[in-house]
Amino acid sequence: MTNFLSPGDQGYDTGRTGYNLAVDHKPEVVVPAASVDDVVAAIRYATTRGLGVAVQATGHGPSRSADGSVLINTSRMDGITIDPVARTARVEAGVRGSALVRAAAEHGLAPLNGSSPEVGVVSYHLGGGIGMLGRSLGWAVDHVRALEVVTADGVLRRASATEETELFWALRGGGKGTLGVVVAIEIDLHPVARLYGGGMHFAATDAERVLTTWAEWARTAPESMGSSVLLIRMPDLPVLPDALRGRYVVHLRFAFTGSAEEGTRLVRPFRDLVGGGRPMSDTVVEMPYSAVGSIHAEPTTPVPFHARNTMLASLDAAAVAELLRHAGPDADAPHLVELRLMGGALARPGAVPSALARRDGAFVLYAGATAEPERVPAVHAAYDRLFTAMAPWSTGGACVNFLSGPDVTAAQLATAYLPADVDRLAAVKRAVDPGDVFRTHHGRADRPGAM
Ligand SMILES: Cc1cc2nc3c(=O)[nH]c(=O)nc-3n(C[C@H](O)[C@H](O)[C@H](O)COP(=O)(O)OP(=O)(O)OC[C@H]3O[C@@H](n4cnc5c(N)ncnc54)[C@H](O)[C@@H]3O)c2cc1C
Repeated sequence: MTNFLSPGDQGYDTGRTGYNLAVDHKPEVVVPAASVDDVVAAIRYATTRGLGVAVQATGHGPSRSADGSVLINTSRMDGITIDPVARTARVEAGVRGSALVRAAAEHGLAPLNGSSPEVGVVSYHLGGGIGMLGRSLGWAVDHVRALEVVTADGVLRRASATEETELFWALRGGGKGTLGVVVAIEIDLHPVARLYGGGMHFAATDAERVLTTWAEWARTAPESMGSSVLLIRMPDLPVLPDALRGRYVVHLRFAFTGSAEEGTRLVRPFRDLVGGGRPMSDTVVEMPYSAVGSIHAEPTTPVPFHARNTMLASLDAAAVAELLRHAGPDADAPHLVELRLMGGALARPGAVPSALARRDGAFVLYAGATAEPERVPAVHAAYDRLFTAMAPWSTGGACVNFLSGPDVTAAQLATAYLPADVDRLAAVKRAVDPGDVFRTHHGRADRPGAM
């Protein structure tokens, strides 16, 4: 029987709380769904009462707060079925990347997961999915074979390249919380059992040299090499080693599918940086793919965080200088900055067109900060300075998956799409959800169905 939890009921708080505490959902009802029937019952409960419906798997990428709505928590829908011969997986709505990576690895296979193993598989795919293998294998969304989705009318539909094709197009890139509850996703797996990968930390004094070398190196890095760089003042936490605790560091990350020998050659420029520039730590090794989450080693403790991003068309010397002016060791920025190397297969269209068609970024520039409400205005002011300064290198587009939290506007979200696709997405929304039942997304609350 479907559980409908109201404020004060056991499980209500657990069900509404996710990783990003900046979104403090106060839904009228939380439904901890364990099955498709529960999802259908939750939607029918909402529509008969005129309530909105929101979805949460892990809370890593929440949209608007689900206040007064029915919040479907999918974390109990944790089924994974692997077909090792077809190299596919059917993954239910509540599965995290780590569980899928583990299950696929038993067959020597890998999904196109992202940097954090804690992120939910379904929503990661719906937002495009910039994975650790993206430069060689493309956006995760291009490897979605089918989606099972319950729409606002309570009907379970299957969308694929041959069924509900317009819905299939829209869900892939434009389906986070807007068009229905995706109860399961069917995706390709890839024969990747190992990597040469890991991270290197550099001290603040080497920030300029490392970033300049990385920007130059990125121009010729092969597609089989994934890489990113994080500029961060580490928190002053006892769990961290003394060398990192409270210090500004540069964290370079690598995920290379070629041989360890070739990988060693490719990362040598960073190991050989002269003038005291050798890494403070170096964890780049031959590893099983199942250890992929250790490369970024992102924190897992829930925090209130606020983020912004844009795609950069290039990263020349002037861009590096500008970036360091706003996020370098002397900037005293209240946020971290991450650059992810795009290009390769991430710049090419998928075999089956999707709403995730804006692929003109050579890098994603992402800024994020943990901030209690009173510090949020200062974080936004710093973002305004950073993103204005970097505007000359921006494509003007953003990455859907990194647009989350209470600060995102419909206008920002629209930049993630090709202009014609914004209207097409709105048309699909009007067709499948004319009453805007799924209304807590970042689309225009004032114009139901519009982005
Ligand atoms: C630490 C960290 C690392 C990340 N790394 C990457 C990365 O490497 N690459 C990348 O591309 N992204 C990355 N992301 C972004 C992440 O992929 C998105 O925020 C994603 O939407 C999170 O999904 P979730 O289920 O974990 O979070 P949730 O907050 O539970 O879901 C996010 C939103 O998706 C929608 N949604 C959730 N489940 C469903 C469903 N079943 N049906 C329909 N809509 C649904 C809802 O609107 C929900 O608000 C990262 C985020 C974090 C916090």
